[in-house]
Amino acid sequence: MQLQTLLNFVEKHKGFVYEHVALVRDRRSPELRIRIRPAKGSRGRCSACGTPGPTYDTLAERRFQFVPLWGIVVFFLYAMRRISCAPCGRVVVEMVPWAQGKQPITTSFAWFLAAWAKRMSWKEVAGAFRVSWDTVFAAVQMAVAYGLAHRKIDDVTAIGVDEVMWHKRGKFLTVVYALDEGVRRLLWLGQGRKEETLRGFFDWFGDHGKNLRAVASDMWQPFMNVIRERVPWALNILDRFHITANVHKAVDEVRAKEARELAKQGKEVLKHKRWILLKSPENLTEPQAAKLADLVKANLKTVRAYLLKEDLRQLWGHFTVTLGGAFLIRWCRRAKASRLDPMARVARTLEKNFDLILNWFRVGGAISSGAVEGMNNKLKVILRRSYGFRSYEATSAALYHGLGKLPEPPLIHRFG
Ligand SMILES: [Zn+2]
Repeated sequence: MQLQTLLNFVEKHKGFVYEHVALVRDRRSPELRIRIRPAKGSRGRCSACGTPGPTYDTLAERRFQFVPLWGIVVFFLYAMRRISCAPCGRVVVEMVPWAQGKQPITTSFAWFLAAWAKRMSWKEVAGAFRVSWDTVFAAVQMAVAYGLAHRKIDDVTAIGVDEVMWHKRGKFLTVVYALDEGVRRLLWLGQGRKEETLRGFFDWFGDHGKNLRAVASDMWQPFMNVIRERVPWALNILDRFHITANVHKAVDEVRAKEARELAKQGKEVLKHKRWILLKSPENLTEPQAAKLADLVKANLKTVRAYLLKEDLRQLWGHFTVTLGGAFLIRWCRRAKASRLDPMARVARTLEKNFDLILNWFRVGGAISSGAVEGMNNKLKVILRRSYGFRSYEATSAALYHGLGKLPEPPLIHRFG
């Protein structure tokens, strides 16, 4: 069997012929060069409007990298025609079906690289398939551009809005996730975390905002303002993840302060106990549980803060607004009476946002408790993997590619 037969099997292009295949061995790594020519009597199509036209002249041969074969790098070689296009009224370069615009790689190879870029870092993909980092970036950009243009967003009824630190301290991204069960994905990304940033999302989301039943967010006031302004019919929920994070921070503040005070007196009872105090007791190992029991016996402020934190977890076990609300009122009263400043401060924040917290019970589990946290964890993995990316364009391409669940074109043959 000839290689041309195989090529026509995986990728046949009307109007073009695989003319000649040559294996070039006099290099550090071998290379397969596949020369393409126009089929006899075929006319080139205008790259601007798609109309066939007579050939004006032929440009120098170009190389388009194709999917490697048995570990050998493969190139298509083709001399593009310039055609006289009647509708455009000028001489235009023809379009070729295997590549887009000025791309140095074929579309099949770009989708192949993009598929690998979901599994490993762009640098690793570049190394494995002997292309530049920029080529992998271009491949991912192509996949993301296609996906964003073809995705459907009319299935979104619940979203989560969050801010994540990006690149260096003080720089933020606003992220919007779709949180509906089974279709959770990254919906939108914006730079900064101001009111106008989130307005940018709702402008883009347009009429689909009418479908929204619930919006989960943290207690970041600019977001809460815009949610009320743009989708007043949707319930704004302060989700469990962000509330828990606040309480953990308060417990840790109490611990750090007390540890310093005890250290001054030469006592080390709180040393290396941080994780024990922040973990859920059911996840502790036996030695950790023993250490926790010792701590609880000592009459420490940290232990009182810890017990308050543990107690608040019961809030999520209630099924109605009334019961949940009553529990929250009691908890806040106790936290304020605890004489632990950080805990009292959390209690005041929770009281201030009482209604938004109870919205959790009003939507009856429309948003599962781990939804935002789960998406955030995945996002942080990708951010870490793409830490060296300097531009927002590269970072956003990586995030949409990894978390957007974007659609792909129906290719005749899948390589990756
Ligand atoms: Zn034209």
